[in-house]
Amino acid sequence: TDTASATTFVHVPADLPTRIQHYIDGSFVDSVDGDTFDVLDPVTNETYLQAAAGKKADIDLAVAAARRAFVEGPWPRMLPRERAKVLHKIADLVESRDARLAELESYDSGLPITQALGQARRAAENFRFFADLIVAQADDTYKVPGRQINYVNRKPIGVAGLITPWNTPFMLESWKLAPALATGNTVVLKPAEFTPLSASLWAGIFEEAGLPQGVFNLVNGLGEDAGDALVKHPDVPLISFTGESSTGQLIFGNAAPFLKGLSMELGGKSPAVVFADADLDAAIDATIFGVFSLNGERCTAGSRILVERPVYDEFVERYAAQAKRVKVGHPQDPTTEVGALVHPEHYDKVVSYIEIGKTEGRLVAGGGRPAGFETGNYVEPTVFADVDKDARIFQEEIFGPVVAITPFDTEEEALELANGVKYGLAAYIWTNDLKRAHNFSQAVEAGMVWLNSNNVRDLRTPFGGVKASGLGHEGGYRSIDFYTDQQAVHITL
Ligand code: NAD
Repeated sequence: TDTASATTFVHVPADLPTRIQHYIDGSFVDSVDGDTFDVLDPVTNETYLQAAAGKKADIDLAVAAARRAFVEGPWPRMLPRERAKVLHKIADLVESRDARLAELESYDSGLPITQALGQARRAAENFRFFADLIVAQADDTYKVPGRQINYVNRKPIGVAGLITPWNTPFMLESWKLAPALATGNTVVLKPAEFTPLSASLWAGIFEEAGLPQGVFNLVNGLGEDAGDALVKHPDVPLISFTGESSTGQLIFGNAAPFLKGLSMELGGKSPAVVFADADLDAAIDATIFGVFSLNGERCTAGSRILVERPVYDEFVERYAAQAKRVKVGHPQDPTTEVGALVHPEHYDKVVSYIEIGKTEGRLVAGGGRPAGFETGNYVEPTVFADVDKDARIFQEEIFGPVVAITPFDTEEEALELANGVKYGLAAYIWTNDLKRAHNFSQAVEAGMVWLNSNNVRDLRTPFGGVKASGLGHEGGYRSIDFYTDQQAVHITL
């Protein structure tokens, strides 16, 4: 037990497993070749568990089980209402275990415990949302009077391969699992190798909720082994992937010979654009949250802030002062706002960008390891001002608590800067000019725009990026469309 100021918290959760297996056809199993990989605690960087390292042989078993459950099992043939009941039970179970889930997620990933708790609740909500949506699903019919009736026969596709990143592991898994299962598919999940702990809880939750055997399968392992085998498996017609753009490109190529259905949620370098007429208090609060919450390990992080010249100096000064007040701390401490980065490899990457930033911009907050944190993957909330559009810290995704601030003089220049990167995931616009707000929002190259708003999602809206940030959109019925075939049936009258 550690004590920090008035708060008491436990570093190592009780009853932590020391090994994690795959879950295939209703049973926990080791890898066929017995191989494992190390999982580290981001606060000490010591190995705390061994996870089964899946390879092609393990993926083959998992896909065979999922295929069997699809072809022979009840799940794809159940009424939407019956599947929805199971999904609601899953949501209830996730909700009832939110504290435990948050504790494990925070321990494994270094995310602040209060934020990990929010993500656990979002995971439950994802199941509830898709349970409701599938029951309300209506499909199209078209009538040509006196001649023809045409209707859509919507059906699940088969075994969906789900590949997820480490930044909010459990929640992002739920974002794929819920619609894939709601629509009657069976799945093989390959979670991120840095953070396999929370994913190991799905099997128990699904069993308790009554999901039939073989519908959900999980194979742990490295991307280049287990992930690669899933992408190249001929009996997996769908791959839903969330991760880096470069990994997405590789998967796109590997899936091409099989003509698979692909959904790609990739990286970002999202701009927050602050005009001089904006509510500066609100803009500063939101842009601080936008890049420092979830340790900055957030795909939609507003990691570039573009500020109109008349308020630029004031903004930079106030922003830097507020960034210095963001509380870095132990992930399990409920007062912590920025915890430990997920893994020493990722820590090295983020720190290397901070060093690059020192040659590219004016450091106004942070810049290294926070005082009093000699070990673990801790990084100070770091702010660079006067960053040029060609700077690497302006162009490249850092995925940590590091932000670049750049001034602009005109709306045209702001748009050019906002769009002048390869990514196009999110954009945040701050202005009180109604026309400009809408014109700018519609012109910015981003899949999602938050206008005078914090990053809060409505699950019915499209989620996804343009340019290098992704391919295809999920969210609401778009997820249903991705996980189903819409067969047209034509009847002559
Ligand atoms: P990553 O691309 O390194 O890994 C993601 C997953 O892909 C992991 O499970 C990994 O094992 C697997 N993988 C790696 N190589 C593979 C291969 N050759 N074949 C099949 N699978 C492979 O990404 P990461 O570092 O885990 O996550 C961070 C990235 O994810 C950031 O770029 C972030 O922006 C992005 N992200 C995007 C969204 C979004 O919705 N757009 C959400 C969260 C994170």
